[in-house]
Amino acid sequence: MSDQVWPPCKECPDGDLLPLSDFGSQGAPIHYKAWVCSNPSCGFNIKIRNGDVYLNEPIASGAAHSPRIR
Ligand SMILES: [Zn+2]
Repeated sequence: MSDQVWPPCKECPDGDLLPLSDFGSQGAPIHYKAWVCSNPSCGFNIKIRNGDVYLNEPIASGAAHSPRIR
């Protein structure tokens, strides 16, 4: 599986689209929910949510979320 070739990014010349998986609310894995360019300066991404496809949403950095107060 390590020699799998990802599709090249269409937005920049040197990025590849990497599949990302998520976990649903019941803990079930959702494979290939989103595809993100491997080039950080490109940031192209496509993802599916509730059956709708979202293109090039801004990538939220984890730092943008306010920390949870315990
Ligand atoms: Zn790209």
